[in-house]
Amino acid sequence: MLQQTRVAAVVDHYRIFLKRFPNIQALAAASEDAVLAAWSGLGYYRRARMLYQCAKELVQKHGGRFPQTAEALQTLPGIGRYTAAAIASIAFAEPVAVVDGNVERVLQRLTGIDLTTPQTWQHAQALLASSRPGDFNQAMMELGATVCVPRQPRCPNCPVRKWCVTRLSNFNQGANGTITMERPASRPGGTLALNSSRRIKKEIWCVLNQRNGSIRLVQRPRKSPLMPGMWELPQLPQKRRPTWVPAAWRTFRHSITVTDYAVHVHRARTAKGKWIPVANISQFPITGLTRKILKAAGVI
Ligand code: SF4
Repeated sequence: MLQQTRVAAVVDHYRIFLKRFPNIQALAAASEDAVLAAWSGLGYYRRARMLYQCAKELVQKHGGRFPQTAEALQTLPGIGRYTAAAIASIAFAEPVAVVDGNVERVLQRLTGIDLTTPQTWQHAQALLASSRPGDFNQAMMELGATVCVPRQPRCPNCPVRKWCVTRLSNFNQGANGTITMERPASRPGGTLALNSSRRIKKEIWCVLNQRNGSIRLVQRPRKSPLMPGMWELPQLPQKRRPTWVPAAWRTFRHSITVTDYAVHVHRARTAKGKWIPVANISQFPITGLTRKILKAAGVI
């Protein structure tokens, strides 16, 4: 849940999700729609689908228990090298190093070398304290997240400064004592945030149609590359508002990965989609944008 998402946005969803699916068996026995409904509002729904498929595979092939090595964990849906190493080292004490964007930056500064990805993993593995791999990995990630931060690293307070090749040398100290980077902390294509000029802008027109405690929603195609099978407000097909549709009730701003949407919502009638009773809406996997609009309209 925390991938690409802030802790504050996750906490409530995490508690509700674990209450609904308290173990792997409960998750595997649920329907995909029920899992997506519980995930609704967190975005990046591929994570929920992978989690669900992973639970199913654990039950079908592994007796409902996680394998205990990074190598075996990587055979499960949705678990790549980073996640496998994190689970294996933290949960099962396997001496295997974890590399995320924070660790990559720490290692580049510690060594003073613009390391390639394979070299970064090798360096991390060479440094690993094999008696406490989970603690070591968490300490490295935390060091990058709180001390060796991208723009203003706190070198004077850094616990590894005496081994660090870079240590202040590539940074400028401002009049107020703050330290800023002279050059980017990562290679192009690395962990830097996307430049705002590379973001895509789009407009959408959709319809909010309420009647007798129900609301009109449509289900996205099951094979859609974006949020397949999820429910949302019906959209107007054309990009211009037809004359029979009243002016927009409200316009919402919504961002998904690199796209910024302006979403114009019209209160109007539509024959598209199905009537969904508002009382049952929590059982439907609705998109984050739909949730945002329905909340603003006082529907949920
Ligand atoms: S001394 Fe500075 S640059 Fe080196 S690891 Fe610590 S915070 Fe990062």
